[in-house]
Amino acid sequence: MYFGSVRFFRHLIVVLVILLIFGLTVSTICLTVINGNYKDQISEMQSEVVLAQSNPVEEKPQNGLTIEYQEGYPDMYAKLAEKTKTVPKTVYLTFDDGPSARTAEILDILKQENIKATFFIIGREGVREKDLMKRIVEEGHTIGIHTYSHVYSSIYQSVESFLDDFHQTYDLIYEVTGVKPEIFRFPGGSINKYSAQYYEEIIAEMTRRGFTYYDWNSSSGDAIAHATQSSVYNSTVQSSAGKDRIILLMHDSIGKSCTVAALPKIIEYYKAEGFQFERITNDVAPVAFNYINY
Ligand SMILES: [Zn+2]
Repeated sequence: MYFGSVRFFRHLIVVLVILLIFGLTVSTICLTVINGNYKDQISEMQSEVVLAQSNPVEEKPQNGLTIEYQEGYPDMYAKLAEKTKTVPKTVYLTFDDGPSARTAEILDILKQENIKATFFIIGREGVREKDLMKRIVEEGHTIGIHTYSHVYSSIYQSVESFLDDFHQTYDLIYEVTGVKPEIFRFPGGSINKYSAQYYEEIIAEMTRRGFTYYDWNSSSGDAIAHATQSSVYNSTVQSSAGKDRIILLMHDSIGKSCTVAALPKIIEYYKAEGFQFERITNDVAPVAFNYINY
Protein backbone atom coordinates (compact mmCIF):
# COMPACT_ATOMS: atom_id res chain seq x y z
CA MET A 1 0.00 0.00 0.00
CA TYR A 2 1.34 3.47 -0.98
CA PHE A 3 -0.23 5.59 1.84
CA GLY A 4 1.52 4.88 5.07
CA SER A 5 4.42 3.22 3.28
CA VAL A 6 8.04 4.36 3.70
CA ARG A 7 7.98 5.71 0.11
CA PHE A 8 4.94 7.82 0.89
CA PHE A 9 6.70 9.48 3.84
CA ARG A 10 9.83 10.13 1.79
CA HIS A 11 7.78 11.84 -0.91
CA LEU A 12 5.87 13.80 1.74
CA ILE A 13 9.11 15.09 3.27
CA VAL A 14 10.44 16.09 -0.18
CA VAL A 15 7.18 17.97 -0.97
CA LEU A 16 7.24 19.72 2.40
CA VAL A 17 10.87 20.77 1.95
CA ILE A 18 10.07 22.14 -1.54
CA LEU A 19 7.09 24.06 -0.13
CA LEU A 20 9.21 25.45 2.69
CA ILE A 21 11.94 26.62 0.29
CA PHE A 22 9.31 28.17 -2.01
CA GLY A 23 7.64 29.92 0.89
CA LEU A 24 10.90 31.32 2.18
CA THR A 25 11.87 32.55 -1.28
CA VAL A 26 8.52 34.29 -1.84
CA SER A 27 8.56 36.00 1.52
CA THR A 28 12.17 37.12 1.05
CA ILE A 29 11.24 38.66 -2.32
CA CYS A 30 8.22 40.42 -0.77
CA LEU A 31 10.23 41.83 2.08
CA THR A 32 12.89 43.10 -0.29
CA VAL A 33 10.29 44.88 -2.42
CA ILE A 34 8.52 46.42 0.59
CA ASN A 35 11.80 47.46 2.09
CA GLY A 36 12.83 48.99 -1.21
CA ASN A 37 9.63 51.01 -1.40
CA TYR A 38 10.03 52.16 2.14
CA LYS A 39 13.58 53.24 1.46
CA ASP A 40 12.38 55.08 -1.61
CA GLN A 41 9.81 56.87 0.47
CA ILE A 42 12.36 57.89 3.07
CA SER A 43 14.85 59.14 0.51
CA GLU A 44 12.04 61.03 -1.22
CA MET A 45 11.06 62.69 2.02
CA GLN A 46 14.66 63.50 2.74
CA SER A 47 15.14 65.08 -0.64
CA GLU A 48 12.00 67.13 -0.09
CA VAL A 49 13.41 68.41 3.15
CA VAL A 50 16.68 69.27 1.46
CA LEU A 51 14.76 71.00 -1.31
CA ALA A 52 12.68 72.92 1.15
CA GLN A 53 15.81 73.98 2.95
CA SER A 54 17.59 75.13 -0.15
CA ASN A 55 14.49 76.86 -1.53
CA PRO A 56 12.71 78.35 1.49
CA VAL A 57 9.17 79.46 0.74
CA GLU A 58 9.38 83.22 0.56
CA GLU A 59 7.39 85.01 3.24
CA LYS A 60 4.42 86.62 1.68
CA PRO A 61 4.06 90.31 2.47
CA GLN A 62 1.01 90.82 4.64
CA ASN A 63 -0.68 93.23 2.35
CA GLY A 64 -2.79 95.69 4.23
CA LEU A 65 -1.54 94.46 7.57
CA THR A 66 1.89 96.05 7.61
CA ILE A 67 1.88 99.06 9.87
CA GLU A 68 4.60 101.27 8.54
CA TYR A 69 4.62 103.80 11.36
CA GLN A 70 5.77 101.10 13.76
CA GLU A 71 9.05 101.06 11.93
CA GLY A 72 9.60 104.82 12.19
CA TYR A 73 11.70 106.44 14.92
CA PRO A 74 13.45 103.24 15.99
CA ASP A 75 15.12 105.04 18.91
CA MET A 76 11.91 106.39 20.34
CA TYR A 77 11.02 103.76 22.90
CA ALA A 78 10.58 103.78 26.65
CA LYS A 79 10.42 100.96 29.12
CA LEU A 80 6.96 100.49 30.59
CA ALA A 81 6.91 100.09 34.36
CA GLU A 82 6.49 96.46 35.36
CA LYS A 83 4.19 97.41 38.18
CA THR A 84 2.25 100.56 38.91
CA LYS A 85 1.59 101.98 42.34
CA THR A 86 -1.46 103.70 43.76
CA VAL A 87 -0.49 105.73 46.80
CA PRO A 88 -3.48 107.07 48.74
CA LYS A 89 -3.67 110.68 49.93
CA THR A 90 -1.30 111.83 47.20
CA VAL A 91 -1.59 114.80 44.91
CA TYR A 92 0.33 115.17 41.70
CA LEU A 93 0.59 118.79 40.58
CA THR A 94 0.94 118.90 36.81
CA PHE A 95 1.76 121.93 34.65
CA ASP A 96 1.06 121.93 30.91
CA ASP A 97 1.99 124.21 28.02
CA GLY A 98 5.29 125.60 29.36
CA PRO A 99 8.04 126.32 29.82
CA SER A 100 7.72 130.08 30.12
CA ALA A 101 8.57 132.86 32.55
CA ARG A 102 5.73 131.47 34.71
CA THR A 103 7.59 128.19 34.99
CA ALA A 104 10.48 129.95 36.72
CA GLU A 105 8.09 131.44 39.29
CA ILE A 106 6.42 128.08 39.87
CA LEU A 107 9.80 126.38 40.31
CA ASP A 108 10.69 128.97 42.96
CA ILE A 109 7.50 128.24 44.91
CA LEU A 110 7.98 124.48 44.65
CA LYS A 111 11.56 124.83 45.85
CA GLN A 112 10.49 126.87 48.82
CA GLU A 113 7.85 124.30 49.73
CA ASN A 114 10.15 121.37 48.96
CA ILE A 115 7.56 119.86 46.63
CA LYS A 116 8.14 117.85 43.47
CA ALA A 117 5.80 118.23 40.48
CA THR A 118 5.42 117.30 36.82
CA PHE A 119 5.84 119.52 33.76
CA PHE A 120 4.39 118.44 30.42
CA ILE A 121 6.22 120.74 28.06
CA ILE A 122 5.47 121.92 24.55
CA GLY A 123 8.58 121.45 22.41
CA ARG A 124 8.01 124.72 20.53
CA GLU A 125 8.19 126.59 23.83
CA GLY A 126 11.05 124.50 25.16
CA VAL A 127 13.33 125.47 22.27
CA ARG A 128 13.20 129.04 23.56
CA GLU A 129 13.54 128.10 27.22
CA LYS A 130 16.22 125.45 27.37
CA ASP A 131 17.53 126.69 30.72
CA LEU A 132 14.12 126.18 32.26
CA MET A 133 13.97 122.66 30.86
CA LYS A 134 17.29 121.97 32.56
CA ARG A 135 16.10 123.56 35.78
CA ILE A 136 12.98 121.37 35.86
CA VAL A 137 15.16 118.26 35.74
CA GLU A 138 17.93 119.54 38.01
CA GLU A 139 15.46 120.46 40.73
CA GLY A 140 14.05 116.94 40.78
CA HIS A 141 10.78 117.34 38.88
CA THR A 142 9.52 115.16 36.06
CA ILE A 143 9.63 116.44 32.51
CA GLY A 144 7.04 114.94 30.19
CA ILE A 145 5.91 115.52 26.61
CA HIS A 146 2.92 117.62 25.60
CA THR A 147 3.72 117.46 21.87
CA TYR A 148 5.79 119.92 19.88
CA SER A 149 3.23 122.13 18.18
CA HIS A 150 0.14 121.60 20.38
CA VAL A 151 -1.93 122.21 17.25
CA TYR A 152 -4.85 119.80 17.60
CA SER A 153 -5.85 119.82 13.95
CA SER A 154 -2.44 118.61 12.80
CA ILE A 155 -1.21 116.32 15.59
CA TYR A 156 -4.42 114.27 15.64
CA GLN A 157 -4.65 113.95 11.87
CA SER A 158 -3.19 110.43 11.93
CA VAL A 159 -0.89 108.21 13.94
CA GLU A 160 1.97 109.27 11.66
CA SER A 161 1.28 112.95 12.34
CA PHE A 162 1.25 112.34 16.07
CA LEU A 163 4.54 110.43 16.00
CA ASP A 164 6.10 112.99 13.72
CA ASP A 165 5.30 115.75 16.16
CA PHE A 166 6.02 113.75 19.32
CA HIS A 167 9.54 112.76 18.36
CA GLN A 168 10.60 116.40 18.02
CA THR A 169 9.95 117.06 21.69
CA TYR A 170 11.34 113.66 22.64
CA ASP A 171 14.62 114.50 20.91
CA LEU A 172 14.68 118.03 22.30
CA ILE A 173 14.26 116.90 25.91
CA TYR A 174 16.95 114.28 25.52
CA GLU A 175 19.38 116.72 23.90
CA VAL A 176 18.82 119.49 26.43
CA THR A 177 18.45 117.54 29.68
CA GLY A 178 19.94 114.11 28.99
CA VAL A 179 16.66 112.57 30.16
CA LYS A 180 14.71 110.22 27.94
CA PRO A 181 11.10 111.14 28.66
CA GLU A 182 8.74 108.27 29.47
CA ILE A 183 5.45 110.00 30.13
CA PHE A 184 3.24 112.37 28.19
CA ARG A 185 -0.05 114.19 28.20
CA PHE A 186 -2.28 114.60 25.16
CA PRO A 187 -3.21 118.19 24.37
CA GLY A 188 -6.89 118.41 25.27
CA GLY A 189 -6.64 115.09 27.12
CA SER A 190 -6.48 111.65 25.56
CA ILE A 191 -9.97 111.83 24.12
CA ASN A 192 -11.20 115.02 22.54
CA LYS A 193 -13.12 115.94 19.44
CA TYR A 194 -9.95 116.25 17.37
CA SER A 195 -8.49 112.90 18.41
CA ALA A 196 -11.82 111.06 18.19
CA GLN A 197 -11.00 109.29 14.94
CA TYR A 198 -7.55 107.98 15.83
CA TYR A 199 -7.14 108.07 19.58
CA GLU A 200 -7.35 104.31 20.04
CA GLU A 201 -4.69 103.72 17.41
CA ILE A 202 -2.47 106.51 18.75
CA ILE A 203 -2.77 105.21 22.30
CA ALA A 204 -2.04 101.66 21.13
CA GLU A 205 1.08 102.79 19.26
CA MET A 206 2.37 104.95 22.11
CA THR A 207 1.79 102.12 24.58
CA ARG A 208 3.55 99.69 22.24
CA ARG A 209 6.51 102.06 22.37
CA GLY A 210 6.43 102.03 26.16
CA PHE A 211 5.13 105.54 26.82
CA THR A 212 2.54 106.20 29.51
CA TYR A 213 0.02 109.02 29.29
CA TYR A 214 -1.70 110.81 32.11
CA ASP A 215 -5.01 112.61 31.95
CA TRP A 216 -6.31 114.32 35.10
CA ASN A 217 -9.11 113.85 37.60
CA SER A 218 -9.04 117.35 39.06
CA SER A 219 -8.71 120.70 37.34
CA SER A 220 -7.67 124.18 38.42
CA GLY A 221 -9.81 125.58 35.60
CA ASP A 222 -6.98 127.96 34.71
CA ALA A 223 -7.40 127.33 30.99
CA ILE A 224 -10.67 129.23 30.78
CA ALA A 225 -10.67 132.86 29.74
CA HIS A 226 -10.73 135.35 32.58
CA ALA A 227 -9.58 132.83 35.16
CA THR A 228 -8.49 134.55 38.36
CA GLN A 229 -6.47 133.61 41.38
CA SER A 230 -9.62 132.83 43.33
CA SER A 231 -11.37 130.98 40.47
CA VAL A 232 -8.29 128.78 40.11
CA TYR A 233 -8.22 128.07 43.83
CA ASN A 234 -11.96 127.40 44.00
CA SER A 235 -11.96 125.07 40.99
CA THR A 236 -9.07 123.14 42.50
CA VAL A 237 -10.82 122.70 45.82
CA GLN A 238 -14.17 121.81 44.25
CA SER A 239 -12.75 119.28 41.83
CA SER A 240 -10.59 117.69 44.52
CA ALA A 241 -13.42 117.09 46.96
CA GLY A 242 -13.79 113.49 48.06
CA LYS A 243 -10.78 112.27 46.10
CA ASP A 244 -8.03 110.26 47.64
CA ARG A 245 -5.56 110.40 44.80
CA ILE A 246 -5.40 113.49 42.65
CA ILE A 247 -3.76 114.42 39.38
CA LEU A 248 -4.36 118.15 39.17
CA LEU A 249 -4.34 119.96 35.84
CA MET A 250 -2.67 123.38 35.77
CA HIS A 251 -0.81 125.44 33.19
CA ASP A 252 2.49 127.28 33.24
CA SER A 253 2.15 129.10 29.93
CA ILE A 254 3.05 132.77 29.83
CA GLY A 255 -0.43 134.15 30.50
CA LYS A 256 -1.10 132.11 33.64
CA SER A 257 -0.17 134.56 36.37
CA CYS A 258 -3.41 133.56 38.09
CA THR A 259 -2.08 130.02 38.52
CA VAL A 260 1.17 131.22 40.01
CA ALA A 261 -0.74 133.51 42.34
CA ALA A 262 -3.06 130.70 43.48
CA LEU A 263 -0.36 128.06 43.90
CA PRO A 264 0.78 128.80 47.48
CA LYS A 265 -2.82 128.66 48.71
CA ILE A 266 -3.47 125.45 46.74
CA ILE A 267 -0.43 123.83 48.35
CA GLU A 268 -1.61 125.00 51.75
CA TYR A 269 -5.05 123.50 51.11
CA TYR A 270 -3.70 120.06 50.18
CA LYS A 271 -1.32 120.06 53.13
CA ALA A 272 -4.19 120.85 55.49
CA GLU A 273 -6.16 117.97 53.95
CA GLY A 274 -3.27 115.61 54.73
CA PHE A 275 -2.05 115.07 51.18
CA GLN A 276 1.52 114.35 50.22
CA PHE A 277 2.95 115.76 46.99
CA GLU A 278 4.68 113.58 44.43
CA ARG A 279 5.93 113.92 40.90
CA ILE A 280 4.63 111.50 38.27
CA THR A 281 6.91 108.71 37.17
CA ASN A 282 5.77 105.96 34.84
CA ASP A 283 5.18 103.57 37.73
CA VAL A 284 2.41 105.83 39.01
CA ALA A 285 -0.94 104.30 38.08
CA PRO A 286 -2.35 106.53 35.34
CA VAL A 287 -5.55 108.48 35.44
CA ALA A 288 -7.07 108.10 31.99
CA PHE A 289 -10.34 109.16 30.47
CA ASN A 290 -12.85 106.45 29.63
CA TYR A 291 -13.18 105.28 26.06
CA ILE A 292 -16.81 104.54 26.66
CA ASN A 293 -19.58 106.93 25.67
CA TYR A 294 -17.35 109.33 23.86
ZN1 LIG B 1 -2.00 121.88 26.60
